[in-house]
Amino acid sequence: MSQPPYGIHWFRRDLRVAGNPALALNWKETKGRVVGLFVFDSQFLARPDFSANRFAFFLDTLSALRTELRALGSDLLVLDENAAAAFPRLFEKVAEKPAFFSWNRDYEPFARERDSAAKKWLKGQGVELRLDRDHLLIEPDEIFKPTDPLATYQVFTPFSKRWYEVFVTAAVQSRVEQQRKGIAFLDKAAKGNAEKMFSLTWSDLLKADTLPDNLLEKYSQKNAAAVTVKIPEAGSQAALRVVREFKKHVAEYGESRDLPAVRGTSGISPFLKNGSLTIAQVIAELGLAPESKKEKSSAGKYLSELVWREFYYHILYHHPRVEKEAFLEKFGSIKWENRRDWFQAWKDGMTGFPIIDAGMRQLKTTGWMHNRVRMIVASFLTKDLHINWQWGEKYFMEALLDGDLAPNNGGWQWAASTGCDPQPYFRIFNPWLQSAKFDPDGDYIRKYVPELAGVEATWLHEPAQVGRNGYPLPLVEHSVQRDKALALYKV
Ligand code: FAD
Repeated sequence: MSQPPYGIHWFRRDLRVAGNPALALNWKETKGRVVGLFVFDSQFLARPDFSANRFAFFLDTLSALRTELRALGSDLLVLDENAAAAFPRLFEKVAEKPAFFSWNRDYEPFARERDSAAKKWLKGQGVELRLDRDHLLIEPDEIFKPTDPLATYQVFTPFSKRWYEVFVTAAVQSRVEQQRKGIAFLDKAAKGNAEKMFSLTWSDLLKADTLPDNLLEKYSQKNAAAVTVKIPEAGSQAALRVVREFKKHVAEYGESRDLPAVRGTSGISPFLKNGSLTIAQVIAELGLAPESKKEKSSAGKYLSELVWREFYYHILYHHPRVEKEAFLEKFGSIKWENRRDWFQAWKDGMTGFPIIDAGMRQLKTTGWMHNRVRMIVASFLTKDLHINWQWGEKYFMEALLDGDLAPNNGGWQWAASTGCDPQPYFRIFNPWLQSAKFDPDGDYIRKYVPELAGVEATWLHEPAQVGRNGYPLPLVEHSVQRDKALALYKV
């Protein structure tokens, strides 16, 4: 007699059980007979901007997910082939084909291609699909100009105005509300009180010993030697703790978010990237209400940063070419100087500009950099050193634990003035003034540039004073480089 139907949930950027919409659909259809699957794509592992640090965090996240699934009566199978190869092989190894396959949508160009091929193949196998949204609160096909249903926004302010209009609708508010249950579930699980909601494991399905079950451990061991920063605790529980810590300070976000010397931001970005927690859950936990926007409060400012993130995803979705080129086509022909010695000095934090060097060393030693400093170092690379923004974009992807194509590309194209709604090219950050304004006491600089530990704050923001203790003199003169940049951008 055949078994009742079962389902497979394909995890990608939704590495959690709590409040996982597509997993919940599958669970409903199969009454809890769902197992989890993750496939390592060889193309992903071979990317030129691959980061061993981010991969380590990712592996830890997968491992936390597997533990979570096992505790709830299910399991996670990890395969090291891309989906096109893994699915047929898997279908040969299971005693019976799944009735349902579920996943949450991914918006990157590469993922969209992969998913449409997977859809076609699975449908051909007679498997029913259950797909949902998760990574974004409002999806790219939900935001169009009211005057033209085919026109999308390219400028942040009107985009965000429309985003808030959609945000207050009952449909979106109910999705946020729904995530309160997801959070409650996490709390229960943290206390060990979550019920076993699944009733199927891979060993029930697979013909004995046909697929390896030690890939996470194998990859972790192989990757460990290349890890250069402390990897934060991973997984949904860790992510929730980070949000709760931030909740205590969210009221000060408006004032402190631009000061790199204080921990004024949430630090949630690496978790959002993997889907250990989603924007909807962050909004639910912090109680960010539609009114937050109107109040111009700290909460409103925080919500607006989450909207920036969605904006860059929408831009990437509607204009996938930005992955490879300048959004503003005329700036695709800028004749960058691309001096390799300067690029190396920038990466090493040895430019002689303390605020730049502090940022670049924070990145190298921790895998994270404060947003204000990201903007300053990106502007410096392009407009003071005249190096192609794509070099900086790639290096950030190699070094950031939160490295994520859409916001990284968006941030770089904004700073380089090549993006959809960028900093105008003639408004060039003066790194000395930025330094004095956002690190007035020099605490951030001294923390990451120990050569300057004994230097008084005022001198840290002055070019003539900083060459000492082996710390270099400034590589360039800002005013000269600024004029050259203005000429470069006149294409
Ligand atoms: P918070 O201030 O607490 O903000 C909360 C969340 O809002 C962030 O986690 C992020 O998801 C979103 N957010 C905040 N600021 C921005 C922004 N300017 N643009 C888009 N989303 C934002 N963010 C990444 O997640 N991955 C990247 O690879 C990345 N690369 C960047 C490169 C450059 C050159 C610049 C200027 C910005 C980049 N950002 C990137 C955006 C931003 O710097 C980080 O999201 C932020 O510093 C993460 O720290 P946090 O979670 O404490 O931020």
